[in-house]
Amino acid sequence: MQPLITPQPGIMEIELYQGGASKAAGFDQVLKLSSNENPLGPSQAALAAFRSTANTLHRYPTTDHAELRTAIGEVHGLDPARIICGVGSDEILGLLCYAYAGPGDEIIHTAHGFSMYPVLTRAAGATPVVVAERDRVVDVDAILGAVTERTRLVFVANPGNPSSTRMPDEELARLASELPEDVVLVLDGAYAEFADGYDGGVSLVDKHPNAVMTRTFSKLYGLGGLRIGWGYASDEIIGVLNRLRPPFNLSLTQLATAEAAVRDRAYAAHCVALNAEQRARMVAGLRALGLACDDSETNFVLPRFSSPAQADACEAALRGQGILVRKVGGYGLPDALRITVGDEAGCTRVLDAVAGFLKVAA
Ligand SMILES: *Cc1c(COP(=O)(O)O)cnc(C)c1O
Repeated sequence: MQPLITPQPGIMEIELYQGGASKAAGFDQVLKLSSNENPLGPSQAALAAFRSTANTLHRYPTTDHAELRTAIGEVHGLDPARIICGVGSDEILGLLCYAYAGPGDEIIHTAHGFSMYPVLTRAAGATPVVVAERDRVVDVDAILGAVTERTRLVFVANPGNPSSTRMPDEELARLASELPEDVVLVLDGAYAEFADGYDGGVSLVDKHPNAVMTRTFSKLYGLGGLRIGWGYASDEIIGVLNRLRPPFNLSLTQLATAEAAVRDRAYAAHCVALNAEQRARMVAGLRALGLACDDSETNFVLPRFSSPAQADACEAALRGQGILVRKVGGYGLPDALRITVGDEAGCTRVLDAVAGFLKVAA
């Protein structure tokens, strides 16, 4: 019998999101390098702001997020009127899908793009179109070649997750210029701060009314547990998204903590510097062990093993020592593992554990 209640078309096609593992059997404390979190956690100023909100929890938060937008605007040199804040950048990505796509429409993302893109595309009733990358780097010609009259959005994570690579700036500019003006170009900058000299797409947003940049407090700012992200786009796009955004989407705790975090520029710079130092060590160390590994522009590295079986065995061996890393077979990279860059001691532990695994495997 046909069930009486049926969801909208496409919903049952959504694969449930798999988060990074946070537990390993037999360990109270794990070294969690599976979700690209900041190993140092949030800044002290952010924690102080977080605690201070305990006194005002009976108050509703603002609905316009003016203070947080002003802070982001000051720190990043942007017009606060063209910023929108959301429950993680995931919420902004979702609002973009709901605003601009529906049944019959297509949304393009690249082969090793973030796994939320197809989820949000289906949630809007639209159809995901996946295009190949070239050697784990976003391929502009492949994207342009996949555009049809049904294409409404293109998602590009730059730098990419789980690829860790960054597109050449000229290629990104070419994509923005050559994409039809009625297609929304979403520049997901979750890792923009870790890419040396990259503006996250600001200059392209300022030039192209159909371009949007999204950013997050979950990675560099160490606030993944609190769920705050933001977007920057033309007045036109921001005006559309604000109509869809639930007015009380962010709690006053989220707003106050994020504002203090973004204003603590010294701490952010310290975290970027630590990541750059340990990331270089990780890439060099993994290569010295004979593993292929692209230069990373993010806070994680992606070593490639000789086979999917070897990658799986290494993940299990690390888990056996209480070290959690991410398998990325679901992203079409079954021979690789995604490993978040930890602090110095954490990186040493990973490199030693991988070396030990390869010795036993040899
Ligand atoms: C982590 C991540 C995000 C952001 O997530 P939120 O926590 O929702 O802000 C967005 N895109 C990519 C590619 C990511 O890796």
